[in-house]
Amino acid sequence: MANKTNKIRIGVDLGGTNLVAGIVNDNREITHKASIPTKIGEPYQVIIKDMAELVKKLVEDAGYQISDIESVGIGSPGAIDNKNGVVITASNLKFENAPVVEEFKKYINVPVDLENDANAAAYGEYKKTGDNCESFVMVTLGTGVGGGIVINGKIYRGFNGIGGEIGHVLLKQGGIPCPCGRTGCWEAYASATALIKQTKEAIKNHPESIMAKAEKVNGVTAFEAEKLGDKTAKEVVENYISYVSEGIIDIITLLQPNKILIGGGISNEGENLLNKINAYISSHLETYGVPQPEISIATLRNDAGIIGAAFAASDM
Ligand SMILES: [Zn+2]
Repeated sequence: MANKTNKIRIGVDLGGTNLVAGIVNDNREITHKASIPTKIGEPYQVIIKDMAELVKKLVEDAGYQISDIESVGIGSPGAIDNKNGVVITASNLKFENAPVVEEFKKYINVPVDLENDANAAAYGEYKKTGDNCESFVMVTLGTGVGGGIVINGKIYRGFNGIGGEIGHVLLKQGGIPCPCGRTGCWEAYASATALIKQTKEAIKNHPESIMAKAEKVNGVTAFEAEKLGDKTAKEVVENYISYVSEGIIDIITLLQPNKILIGGGISNEGENLLNKINAYISSHLETYGVPQPEISIATLRNDAGIIGAAFAASDM
């Protein structure tokens, strides 16, 4: 039942496919959720109007009123100016300097916060598992390598708002081209997309591998075949783990965060992935006998962005 004495916090994921809004409780759970397709290609005014209507409907269907809303947090892809609530550029949304917060407030005039979606997801995971730690890093191994940094309870954005793009630190100078325009980025080696390429390449060179029988090669193909004792799969997994782990070692060396969380599709591999990463890191990182960051698997999955956006707004 809706508790009508308490104000509610809302999180919205402004995605390239769907607009998803949720009511988020103090336990970092989404109690009510609603979504509609994003009208990609339409001007931001149209999409933000849809978003405001979605939030109104969500709130009313849950038995609340607009006046019960404490704050709204919006997570958006792209480069975000958090101070002014502007999406500077988001190629998949076709937004350029879109004043999202100002536009949203025309419909629902409450405190509104705009965050980069990866930062919002990192903040959600931080609120769920790392709330008391001084420094926290989220690494997302998905289509790309994303993530976010939280220091002293605040999302670290850099002076211009676009800091924390950990997927685009260098792993190999002159290496594989990355969608960002550079070559050799960590993302080009450690994303799920990269693992799939590495798996396909290995199958081509080793047609005797059981991976060649896979109907569709995806991010689990090599992990599954390795468990069955396939030699080629073992090599693919070992190489991939070394790519992921070398990037994590850089994060540790630079920040020594209390906690590092690994999310994204590859994190479905769970303990198996974690054990391999921890084994690599402990044999390749000089620890100087001091305590080491705790590395674990993210828990909120697809809800992290909505929960994080909601808390980023209510913690403002
Ligand atoms: Zn890059």
